[in-house]
Amino acid sequence: MQQVRQVVIVGGGSAGWLVAGVLAARHPAGEPGGLQVTLLESPDRAPIGVGEGTWPTMRDTLRTIGVSEAGLVRECDASFKQGSRFDRWIGGRDPLADGDRYYHPFTLPEGYGDADLVAGWLHGPAHVPFADLVGPQPHLCAEHRAPKQAQTPEYASIANYAYHFDAGKFGPWLRTHCVERLGVQHVLDEMVAIESRDNGDIAALKTRDHGLVAGDLFVDCTGLPSLLLGRHFGVPFVSQRHVLFCDTALALQVPYARDDAPIASQTISTAQAAGWIWDIGLSSRRGIGHVYSSAHTDDASAEAALRAYIAASGGPRDIGAPRKISFDPGHREHFWHRNCVAIGLSAGFIEPLEASALALIELSAAMLADDFPRDRAAVDIVARRFNEAFTYRWARIIEFLKLHYALSRRDDSDFWRDNRREASMPARLQEQLQLWRHRSPSRVDLTRNDEVFPSASWQYVLYGMGFRPDTLPRPDRTADGHFRAAADLTRRMLAGLPDHRALIEHIRRHGQSAV
Ligand SMILES: Cc1cc2nc3c(=O)[nH]c(=O)nc-3n(C[C@H](O)[C@H](O)[C@H](O)COP(=O)(O)OP(=O)(O)OC[C@H]3O[C@@H](n4cnc5c(N)ncnc54)[C@H](O)[C@@H]3O)c2cc1C
Repeated sequence: MQQVRQVVIVGGGSAGWLVAGVLAARHPAGEPGGLQVTLLESPDRAPIGVGEGTWPTMRDTLRTIGVSEAGLVRECDASFKQGSRFDRWIGGRDPLADGDRYYHPFTLPEGYGDADLVAGWLHGPAHVPFADLVGPQPHLCAEHRAPKQAQTPEYASIANYAYHFDAGKFGPWLRTHCVERLGVQHVLDEMVAIESRDNGDIAALKTRDHGLVAGDLFVDCTGLPSLLLGRHFGVPFVSQRHVLFCDTALALQVPYARDDAPIASQTISTAQAAGWIWDIGLSSRRGIGHVYSSAHTDDASAEAALRAYIAASGGPRDIGAPRKISFDPGHREHFWHRNCVAIGLSAGFIEPLEASALALIELSAAMLADDFPRDRAAVDIVARRFNEAFTYRWARIIEFLKLHYALSRRDDSDFWRDNRREASMPARLQEQLQLWRHRSPSRVDLTRNDEVFPSASWQYVLYGMGFRPDTLPRPDRTADGHFRAAADLTRRMLAGLPDHRALIEHIRRHGQSAV
């Protein structure tokens, strides 16, 4: 029976180091059944260097790996993210004057699961945005409040949160910890060929200067080229271009106008004629980029829109040239093939509208560590389960992203009109929208206990985008008590939570107490 002890990860971007950290921390090399983890990384090919918005899952992942939150804040210029704000998505109108703005916060609604909050909202204060009524987080974000206090321990929250961080600093920061504390072997070399066993498994990777790197299980974290799963094994790519049109990004790093400028505690996503602009506030700078459909606009127009946004939001006019990144929206037909599993961009990528890419990496690393196959026979069983789980997750993420487009009433370009065409709509999303004309999204729509987006997220976006059911649900008067509780919580949190920038500066200087 061939044991699985040696794991070789190819790629030293965020995916490679997150997987290395989780595996090495959960299965330490020196313990019985521990794993020997090697990470092979090319010195000549830089990681993609974008990907700065995360989900709250990142807190558990980093705690598992054993790094400190204060270290993330200091070394990766991290800030606290409490959700996303969507401007101009509903009708392309002014967010403030016309109310074309809504939040998708991380905190579940007050009374979620106990009352029909949507019914209470529709029969009551339906003029108040749904997310603003059921929880404090839109108000905290609007007031630039942090989600925790200076004395709150590391990774603990008062309001649920994730991070924004500098993607260029994140991998190297994890690398130091993985190599120095977790015993991960780091090989800085180019993989130039793949050697196979008789059964078709990968036996070893041939490097330019270090000979062969042999292993039992190989993790493809080579980014968009997908060198092991895609190129070597030829696992087909499943394009989603017909559903999600965005395939190009222009990214810029923008200084704050003043040293004491507020740091946004949410990702700001502002819809454009052929895509949308992300705006992420770190402690040191903003990361701003335009994601767009090359079939609906050209690079020069996209860059002009990006520059106009930066100027209008207080940024400098004389900023350098943006970095252009092209991608094919979609994913591999399956993710684990023989003794190779692809995690990160090598598995697939679609526009980062809800920052799902890093979350998928975390989920993949966690499943690999939870269900690590101990021998070759187990590899095929775990592979089948892994593929089933992630095929399901990709489908739900694609539907969730499409929901943002499907409900928009923007009519200012073909991009938005094409996005509403039935042919571009996944069949299951069409079915859901049909059902939601008479009831709100609930657990019956999302039956797994490991759903990527809870029904609350679907509600935040559905009603945030202005969707209203054809028939009003039966009123639920118990919802009013939850709305009052949410308002009370909001008052207390606004009174007790510090300014976001002030908290980050405090942590950078003094750290935080341990968990
Ligand atoms: C415009 C844009 C915005 C994004 N925003 C977000 C976001 O807000 N939130 C989010 O969750 N995700 C986001 N993402 C996705 C996120 O950037 C990635 O999921 C994440 O960075 C992981 O990348 P990776 O490690 O898979 O690949 P990469 O960073 O590309 O790393 C690939 C690695 O493979 C190595 N490699 C390649 N070839 C070889 C070889 N022959 N030999 C040895 N090593 C090799 C390279 O050296 C490199 O280390 C965004 C992506 C894009 C394009």
